[in-house]
Amino acid sequence: MLFLTDSQRDIQARAKALSDGYVKDKAAEIDRTEQYPWETTKKLAEAGFMGMSIPKELGGQGASYLDVVLVIEQMARNCGVTARIVVEANMGGIGAIMAYGTQEQKELCAPYVLAGDKPAICITEPDAGSAATEMTTTAEKVEGGYKINGVKHWITGGGVSKVHLIFARVVENGEFRGIGGFIAIRDEDEGLRVGKREPAMGLRAIPETHLHFEDLFVADNRAVKFPQGYRKGFAALMNAYNAQRVGAATVAHGIAQGAFERAVEFSKEREQFGRPIAEFQGLQWMMSDMSTGLAAAQALIYKAAMAEEGQFPNMQEAAQAKIFAAENAIKVTDSAMQIHGAMGYSRNLPMERMYRDARMFTIGGGTAQMLRNQVASSLLEMKLPQTRAGHLKLAAE
Ligand code: FAD
Repeated sequence: MLFLTDSQRDIQARAKALSDGYVKDKAAEIDRTEQYPWETTKKLAEAGFMGMSIPKELGGQGASYLDVVLVIEQMARNCGVTARIVVEANMGGIGAIMAYGTQEQKELCAPYVLAGDKPAICITEPDAGSAATEMTTTAEKVEGGYKINGVKHWITGGGVSKVHLIFARVVENGEFRGIGGFIAIRDEDEGLRVGKREPAMGLRAIPETHLHFEDLFVADNRAVKFPQGYRKGFAALMNAYNAQRVGAATVAHGIAQGAFERAVEFSKEREQFGRPIAEFQGLQWMMSDMSTGLAAAQALIYKAAMAEEGQFPNMQEAAQAKIFAAENAIKVTDSAMQIHGAMGYSRNLPMERMYRDARMFTIGGGTAQMLRNQVASSLLEMKLPQTRAGHLKLAAE
């Protein structure tokens, strides 16, 4: 990529060295044991990759989204889990807190992340997935703060994350005021209980768990005051979430890139019919298509990541990058396994792990279908309500 600055090339090289060394060595083991890679998070923090997007005055580096993407891409070539940790330590919840939080909230959360914490973002509930605004978790206004009650599920990092950004329906004097975000710290704030862990298909070293909020009290100074107020608070969060989506797209892309590199290498080494299998046109065309898809995914991701300073990535660009990179990653990891033949299907090689890990990204963080809805709404400049009531209301207008 010609347009990278010298400092970005340096970030990329440092990330590649860590990824091709320690991270690569640990990837199979953490997948097998399903243990969260605490040592890796220490090494990421030492390298300055945890919280690199946090402003300099709070101890971070004020890194751009493209800087972060370069690190995620390199980590994912060897380990999707490590790459996801980098996403969540720079985008998602911490990104929203850095953008919308008070100085006090930023000063509370930044040190955790810089020391290696991967914050958790808590939106999805058993009955509110794509229809996230139908969440039923409540934050009831009480003297001096809010009392949160409800259940979330599929929360990445449940039981390992310290900083939590929890979304709940704000209720004041018995009335619904909108969806607000609240900061809680696990083990310090009473009433946050980690529930059962999902037996996930891939990315197994990060726990995906239920979280139970049982009269969890958060003081007034832990409520994130979105500039638009509670009514528009969720929309503001979704704006911050565009960065997370670019990060997720990059993890999918990086995993696919790693699988592709291994497939190319393998095709030159493996011989059948007295020739390297790379000499068969059937595989050459597969690798050609894989490489084209990867180049296109990378271009979409880099474009979305090059948001103006102080701005989140554009919603349409972030959605397009995630749709394309996630679907392409499924195809590329499938082809990479095919090129490896039976060895690709063996747990002795990373192909099957990469295939499992890549599968997540058309689902988590906004499904490919919901993101297509968003792209359509944006390009047609039309509201596209998904509820029956919303359709009827629009038709009546
Ligand atoms: P559903 O909403 O039930 O959807 C089922 C199917 O219906 C999907 O194919 C969907 O695309 C389709 N569908 C639904 N509505 C529409 C529509 N209007 N138009 C077209 N198709 C539609 N959540 C968090 O809050 N925090 C996390 O940290 C987190 N981490 C996750 C990690 C993993 C590994 C996974 C798998 C999920 C994670 N999630 C997290 C939850 C994730 O964001 C949700 O799974 C996702 O939003 C989809 O919700 P759902 O699974 O309930 O699917």
